[in-house]
Amino acid sequence: MSDSCIFCKIVRGEIPSKTVHEDDDFFVFHDIRPIAPVHFLVIPKRHVESLAHFEASDSDLIGRMLLLGARLAPAQGLSGGFRTMINTGKGGGQEVFHVHAHIFGGGDALPKT
Ligand code: 5GP
Ligand code: ZN
Repeated sequence: MSDSCIFCKIVRGEIPSKTVHEDDDFFVFHDIRPIAPVHFLVIPKRHVESLAHFEASDSDLIGRMLLLGARLAPAQGLSGGFRTMINTGKGGGQEVFHVHAHIFGGGDALPKT
């Protein structure tokens, strides 16, 4: 947990969010500035700065984080598929330094990458 991290504050309920799912290890909520009709974030409750800050012993947690996004997507309206994005570090476009997987899609086809 980090006192100043906004995502830790969301986990603690100090900042409101549109919650999709919560369990012992993860918190899932809608992005405040969606880039697609459906756009939510999957975060571990434990404060880890970025994907690059995980340890090898976190492999199971990382796998479950991605799987959880996939499991929740259909009920959020993404039964036709979705995109998963993890921005890592300033050079990777990361703005909130608590690791998160973006899950988004819906509406028109997403641009090819
Ligand atoms: P990043 O650029 O770090 O990968 O993405 C951070 C995401 O967090 C952005 O898409 C941004 O809209 C979202 N975000 C930032 N602050 C808040 C907030 O207070 N609440 C919610 N729900 N999303 C936030
Ligand atoms: Zn945090």
